[in-house]
Amino acid sequence: MNDIEKTKCLIIGSGPAGYTAAIYASRAEMHPIMYQGMQPGGQLTTTNEVENFPGYPEGVTGPAMMLELEAQAKRFGTDVRFGFINRVDFSGEIHKCWADNGKEIHAETVVISTGASAMYLGLESEQHYLSNGGGVSACAVCDGFFYKGQETVIVGAGDSACEEAHYLSKLCTKVTMLVRRDVFRASKIMAERVKKTKNIEILYNTNTIEVLGDGEVVNAVLVKNNITGKETKIPCTGFFVAIGHKPNTEIFKKYIDLDNTGYIKYAQPGTSKTNIPGVFVAGDAADKTYRQAITAAGTGCMAALDAERYLASKEH
Ligand code: NDP
Repeated sequence: MNDIEKTKCLIIGSGPAGYTAAIYASRAEMHPIMYQGMQPGGQLTTTNEVENFPGYPEGVTGPAMMLELEAQAKRFGTDVRFGFINRVDFSGEIHKCWADNGKEIHAETVVISTGASAMYLGLESEQHYLSNGGGVSACAVCDGFFYKGQETVIVGAGDSACEEAHYLSKLCTKVTMLVRRDVFRASKIMAERVKKTKNIEILYNTNTIEVLGDGEVVNAVLVKNNITGKETKIPCTGFFVAIGHKPNTEIFKKYIDLDNTGYIKYAQPGTSKTNIPGVFVAGDAADKTYRQAITAAGTGCMAALDAERYLASKEH
């Protein structure tokens, strides 16, 4: 089969985790191939300004930072490809992967850096102000600072929403939290903390109807009480969505151990190893706690170093 391509290292996904793995693996002469995935650059490409990544004192936009990471990976020889891996077979010593164009790749090591995708409500107005950077975000730690001294609204009632609402409450004059049922899903301690915070107002049984604005930036959110039917306009400049993330791990689940929410489990804490020898994970595909570009980059480095050591151990 002349269609089969062999590589020492295949990197699946192109966020900060994947590119950092690519930089390290290229510099270690592993000649990695990277498939960028459905969203080249990953979640950061939906963030406007990144101000918390060390090394950018003036900040940088998410898309610009990802182009720089791509250029850095290419400079050392990473074969960066547009396209995605849609099937794997990790049953043997050689890891078989198939790209969307049908190409079959046999990799000695694989770095999974497919990330996670934030879930959104799916409203047209939400997507509009998300894509134009006008005030919708799925990451308070990334974007909360831009709403310092302003009023924000956050939707969700899980641990993430509570954590993010609390984070926003320290920056914003007021945070309104929209909970669709009459109870939180979050752990008691997290929910209690939110309930006790003075500048967080919780609206139960409340759904988001529309994100309002002037076309450029958000200025309010229209909500509806799902018991009384009453609609209310809440003035705000930022609308945060914290209704969960979905790790992009579906194609690996037959072989790779996942936790009950779909995140990849580390086989050995403190490493990037999965349960399959030679397959490593980096970034949000295994991280539901930190989810930061810098932590993803850190684990990308770990995955490349672990892959390099794995190859070295096979040579001896
Ligand atoms: P969860 O799935 O736990 O919660 C999602 C929340 O969003 C739920 O309250 C849900 O409401 C709500 N929601 C979902 N869809 C909609 C919608 N269309 N409209 C309005 N509300 C909606 O996700 P999280 O990201 O909060 O947490 C994921 C996992 O990560 C959990 O296991 C959590 O414990 C963990 N985590 C732990 C943290 C920590 O310990 N520090 C921090 C963050 C997360 P409903 O309840 O009605 O279904």
